[in-house]
Amino acid sequence: MSDQRLETVVIGGSQAGLAVGYHLRQRDLSFVILDEKGRIGDAWRRRWDSLRLFTPGRYDGLPGMPFPGSPSSYPTKNQTADYLEGYARTFELPVRTGVRVDSVSKVGDRFEVIGCDHRLFAENVVVATGAYNSPRVPAFARELDESIVQLHSTEYRNPSQIQEGGVLVVGAGNSGAEIAIELAPHHQTWLSGRDTGQEPTRAGSLPDQLFTPIMWFMATRLTVKTPMGRKLRDHFLDPPRGIPLGRVRRKDFAPAGIERVPRMTGVMNGCPVLEDGRILEVSNVIWCTGFTPDYDWIDLSLPTHNGLPIHDRGIVESCPGLYFVGLPFLYSLSSALLGGVGRDAKHIVDHIVSTRSSRMRNSWPEPAEHTRRDRHQGPMDYSDGHEHPVAGGH
Ligand code: FAD
Repeated sequence: MSDQRLETVVIGGSQAGLAVGYHLRQRDLSFVILDEKGRIGDAWRRRWDSLRLFTPGRYDGLPGMPFPGSPSSYPTKNQTADYLEGYARTFELPVRTGVRVDSVSKVGDRFEVIGCDHRLFAENVVVATGAYNSPRVPAFARELDESIVQLHSTEYRNPSQIQEGGVLVVGAGNSGAEIAIELAPHHQTWLSGRDTGQEPTRAGSLPDQLFTPIMWFMATRLTVKTPMGRKLRDHFLDPPRGIPLGRVRRKDFAPAGIERVPRMTGVMNGCPVLEDGRILEVSNVIWCTGFTPDYDWIDLSLPTHNGLPIHDRGIVESCPGLYFVGLPFLYSLSSALLGGVGRDAKHIVDHIVSTRSSRMRNSWPEPAEHTRRDRHQGPMDYSDGHEHPVAGGH
């Protein structure tokens, strides 16, 4: 295992981690970004095939690089993944892919970050591992008959994974609604769960072009520093709930042949049981039941609320040097969105800069990892999904 000392380690190299990397780079700080996936953007590539963003391109840019293409179009998930990969390349961000961090702990006044064959010691750790990566499935899923195909929305890619017979989609938020619409032409489809509400206009419609700027204004300006922002945060986080339907509307379900049914509450004789007592004989169940926070690998006994770390704009005051970015409503509704995470990333990096101790400057006189690379190795190549210098670089 190789040991390395760095000023800042960013864990997670998708949009949140890259936005932090951008601002660290602007300040010429020493850092590395670690990501368990094989390729930058894979968090998006692994989502279902037909997924498009619900935010138009004009609101999908990270700091320093607008999203390419028409500002009013809705990028596909692969375009989003490629944008992130291009972003890392453009700003020469030092992302090490294929490195899963298994533990973060404190050794003296440093953080020890361990994963794969890496052991890094850092003054700061920024956790950017996403709010949507630990699938939540109810315990009674285990009681379903083994002939039923079960997939969480993170495993669903396209209708070819679904076997003949009916489909119960559990969870009626945006993911559930979009997957149900995709499956309904091929299968008898039930969509179960609470109504999550819907936005006043359909994403992409003409009225939506007028409405979206208002929504974006609210999503960015109603921050936790305002009473209305705090109210909105509590609405979404206490308890956690999905965002209202955007592209698919309630009125689309019946014409598509989807039957809206109440929540699934259990299993009887291997079949799903609904809140109204109905038992559905289905061949497939798709769990669109959301995600749970998973920070068990951080050995720092952090105070949490609803499973999320307690922080002030991503700064964990109880553990100096530890930061979170990309959490739902970290500062505003836009905090977990492409177009909103950059502001939070900048705030965190400003804080890192303001708290840099002279001890750290003395103990790490080496130039930043990326600066060293610029001077001696040239830019990096990401074409095979891994970070390495471009041959013949300056
Ligand atoms: P992620 O993209 O989840 O990335 C986290 C990264 O951390 C991953 O690359 C992962 O490999 C890595 N990681 C995790 N754990 C470890 C570990 N222990 N060690 C090393 N690496 C680790 N937002 C929008 O702005 N517009 C949209 O239209 C939109 N649509 C969405 C649709 C869906 C279905 C979902 C689920 C979300 C959507 N979002 C959208 C919300 C948000 O933009 C995405 O979830 C986005 O992927 C979050 O980015 P992130 O960087 O915070 O986390």
